Amino acid sequence: MNDDQTYRTLQERQQKEWEATCGRCGACCGVIEGDPCEHLAGTEKGKYFCRIYENRFGLHKTMNGKPFLCVPIRDILHKSWPGDECCGYKRKLKVL
Ligand code: SF4
Ligand code: SF4
Repeated sequence: MNDDQTYRTLQERQQKEWEATCGRCGACCGVIEGDPCEHLAGTEKGKYFCRIYENRFGLHKTMNGKPFLCVPIRDILHKSWPGDECCGYKRKLKVL
């Protein structure tokens, strides 16, 4: 494996680890507030997922029609939102 391939493999592994840090609680998508993003979906196991995950960033609406911006989780880790005590990223980076 050359240096480029090694770097790409490492990046992919880090990306997977980062994604796996999310506990799929749905809190950052408004589920605890009771007016979640219209693109949020629940599973039978009580977890949540984004129906448009690959295209999630940008302007969206809540179920009640309130507009908001979906941004990368890195950009909001310094902020608070209802239910954020369960956020895997906040726990991992100790920003609770
Ligand atoms: S678009 Fe953003 S806020 Fe809406 S469900 Fe997807 S990740 Fe959550
Ligand atoms: S609050 Fe954190 S753990 Fe919960 S869905 Fe959002 S990013 Fe994932």
